[in-house]
Amino acid sequence: MGIGEEKLARMRHSMAHVMASGVLTMFPDAKIAIGPAIENGFYYDFDLPRRLKPEDLQVIEGHMTQLIEEDYPFERESISRADALRLFRNQPYKIELIKDLPEGEELSIYRMGSFTDLCRGPHVQSTGKLCPQGFKLISIAGAYWRGSERRPMLQRVYGTAWHDSKALRMHLAYLEEIEKRDHRRLGRELDLFSLHEQVGAGLVHWHPKGARIRVLVEDFWRAEHYRNGYEMVFTPHVGKSWLWETSGHLDFYAESMYPSIQMDRSDYYIKPMNCPFHVMIYNSGKHSYRDLPYRWAELGTVYRYERSGTLHGLLRVRGFTQDDAHLICTPNQMQGEIREVLRFSLYMLRSFGFREIAAYLSTMPEKAVGEPKRWEAAQNSLREAVESEKLEYEVDEGGGAFYGPKIDLKVRDALGRIWQLSTIQFDFNLPDRFDMVFTDSDGVEKRPYMIHRALFGSMERFFGVMIENYGGAFPVWLSPVQAVLIPVALNLGDYAGEVVREMRRKDIRAEADLGNERLNAKIRNHQIQKVPYMLIVGERERENRSVSIRTREGEKSSLSIDEAVEMIQKKISAKE
Ligand SMILES: [Zn+2]
Ligand SMILES: [Zn+2]
Repeated sequence: MGIGEEKLARMRHSMAHVMASGVLTMFPDAKIAIGPAIENGFYYDFDLPRRLKPEDLQVIEGHMTQLIEEDYPFERESISRADALRLFRNQPYKIELIKDLPEGEELSIYRMGSFTDLCRGPHVQSTGKLCPQGFKLISIAGAYWRGSERRPMLQRVYGTAWHDSKALRMHLAYLEEIEKRDHRRLGRELDLFSLHEQVGAGLVHWHPKGARIRVLVEDFWRAEHYRNGYEMVFTPHVGKSWLWETSGHLDFYAESMYPSIQMDRSDYYIKPMNCPFHVMIYNSGKHSYRDLPYRWAELGTVYRYERSGTLHGLLRVRGFTQDDAHLICTPNQMQGEIREVLRFSLYMLRSFGFREIAAYLSTMPEKAVGEPKRWEAAQNSLREAVESEKLEYEVDEGGGAFYGPKIDLKVRDALGRIWQLSTIQFDFNLPDRFDMVFTDSDGVEKRPYMIHRALFGSMERFFGVMIENYGGAFPVWLSPVQAVLIPVALNLGDYAGEVVREMRRKDIRAEADLGNERLNAKIRNHQIQKVPYMLIVGERERENRSVSIRTREGEKSSLSIDEAVEMIQKKISAKE
């Protein structure tokens, strides 16, 4: 943390005290939990006699401004555990925190005006050091005490705080942009997908327009995989316990799996991963070094149990389709395969407009399976590949999974946010557990290398990231509707229909809007739907066999039908 950030964090955490004090003014019986500084702001968790309403935030802000103006010092005091228990006797959450601290430890409290909190600090000197125009309370959310669903649900108030009003205004504008691009909101507005509590949490329904985009992404994905020497496989959605016992998933991954289904005196499990099935395909035959490498890809739908509190739109779900692949190769081929798969990953991410990509290399943890020699070789090949692609990278020493080192690729989106998408992960566990072998040139059976990789991560999550990155304005090649014909009068519907048919013959997704709304209302609707081209036709256009084009960015031009077709086709094939 830089000095600037440290100062901000201190100021934000102090704001949390000021907010808690304001809340206590409003609700003298409030029970207070914890209130840390976070990125861009702070929060505090409360147990309150009633649910907070958005209007309450203004009242609390008013109390906060007053506390800042009255310039109360933050005063530290050391206190014994016994005294702390007495002091906070009406604050059960504080009591629980105090009891968790080691016996005999000296505690510190901070007083600020009439408010006292158990806290390690540090804070600003006095509330007067906080900028009364530099903060705002942003939102109210539910939060379980200590993050546990078995504990009480508290109310968390989030705030943002800055050194001055200008920084605050910039941050609020940024938040507004994030809100506008929220994929859940755009998913509704553009009719792309839905989730239904009645069906089950975290299970995504792709509507026709969202499905259209997914099919385009999948078609592109398949074509590029075949071009890059991959083969497609399909595998079952369930497998018997033998498979998951052999793979080890029932030992170390059971918590994330859906419970078993009994049938024919066997236990079947819905797959949380595709890997063991790909291994079964491998083990169904004998392999010589000459047959390797194998690159087997599958858009494999898996189900995992994620705690309901962590589910979030498309970004965190329970059922999702991984764009999975497994590379199985000899030790000699491993370096080349890693370099190639990294190059391929970057190509795929860049195809969707992600230009800023950074790599994170995670190396051997203390508890690990597999020979150290193999770890070493694998890590070196990952590092070498990242360096040869001239990627910025960080190393998480010892941060790898127990079964192998990996590279994660993270991208920066249009709003500067970082998303982790691709993973390239070695596996020294499954080849041993399933006794995978190949016959080497010396006639000896040896273990192949196995590498898992997903480029987008999952179709669902990638779609969510794409929606937010494009702000719903998908590039022309991915737009569910690429052109909409808008006749200025009812008698021009035939001509509009004719242009639509012509465009569809040329593989352009065109529609005609023959509704009763006025022209301006139609344009506004399609603008909101982010259709790239609105083609407006009147008498003159019909006579000239032309269209008057208005792009979603508001640019206008007039082209003949043929010219318009050609222009849109060019945009589609450029995939920009
Ligand atoms: Zn504090
Ligand atoms: Zn895998």
